[in-house]
Amino acid sequence: TTAYLNGEFLPLQEARISPLDRGFLFGDGIYEVVPSYGGRMVGFSQHFARMEKGLAMVEIAPSLTEQDTRDICQHLIDSNRETLGENIGVYLHVSRGADTRRFHAYPEGVQPTVFAFAFALTAPVNADRTIHAGAKVAITQDLRWQRCHIKSTALLGNVMHFQQGYREGNAETILFNGDGQITEASSSNVFIVKDGEVLTPPLDNQLLPGITRMLVLACLQKAGIPHSESWFSVDELNSADEVWLTSSGKEILPVVQVGDKTIADGKVGPVWEQAFTLYSKLKFEL
Ligand code: PMP
Repeated sequence: TTAYLNGEFLPLQEARISPLDRGFLFGDGIYEVVPSYGGRMVGFSQHFARMEKGLAMVEIAPSLTEQDTRDICQHLIDSNRETLGENIGVYLHVSRGADTRRFHAYPEGVQPTVFAFAFALTAPVNADRTIHAGAKVAITQDLRWQRCHIKSTALLGNVMHFQQGYREGNAETILFNGDGQITEASSSNVFIVKDGEVLTPPLDNQLLPGITRMLVLACLQKAGIPHSESWFSVDELNSADEVWLTSSGKEILPVVQVGDKTIADGKVGPVWEQAFTLYSKLKFEL
């Protein structure tokens, strides 16, 4: 497949970066994953805006404009469609670049590394919804850092949480903080439905401001479905009528089992049906 590295398109197998790149040595970088279906990206400008904010927070100077970045992503989608199929995720990565010293301070005068490649997305819910049996997930205390709003390439904490659930056959691992409140999952945001109201935790340093989360909230708003950005506890999750996970790769994934607890009657719920229909219709327009 074709990839992008520091200003040029090239075969992915030929892409080379320095082992001194701080993305490699320190996990010192910011990334995005932009989903696309049939050649059309979902939420590109929202993904770009989040990336710019992340880069500003870690003081890496962005080297590409929004239009350049959009063109790179679109080119990767168009040139890889034949190989990868209709559903493609574009991984975008900016790391601080290669320094000759291994020294924690941000180096001066180092060119950031910009890398992007395309990969096949397998949506867990297919277009005709023949696959929409709910998922089983694990739940555990969040042991990551206190800056989860930054989409850092340093993902070991997330990877360890994901693996903990995956090892036992779970699709994800939902996380709760020291106060027993749900924050997010290892690579997704969390929603519950209780008595007709959709709840998702408000944005702060404990969770990533997911683009899919934002688009789903916009769909609910547009359709007049009651919803609120509010904290909820592990107990409230367990006794919810529905649980969903959202991410660029998962879209909206219904969950029917959390740890050893079955959610409601163990079936995919009606509010998920509604939300998924709305999202499928509006995802290219929001
Ligand atoms: N939380 C975490 C920790 C994530 O890694 C992700 C995405 N990979 C999300 C939430 C969902 O974000 P988005 O909808 O922008 O993909």
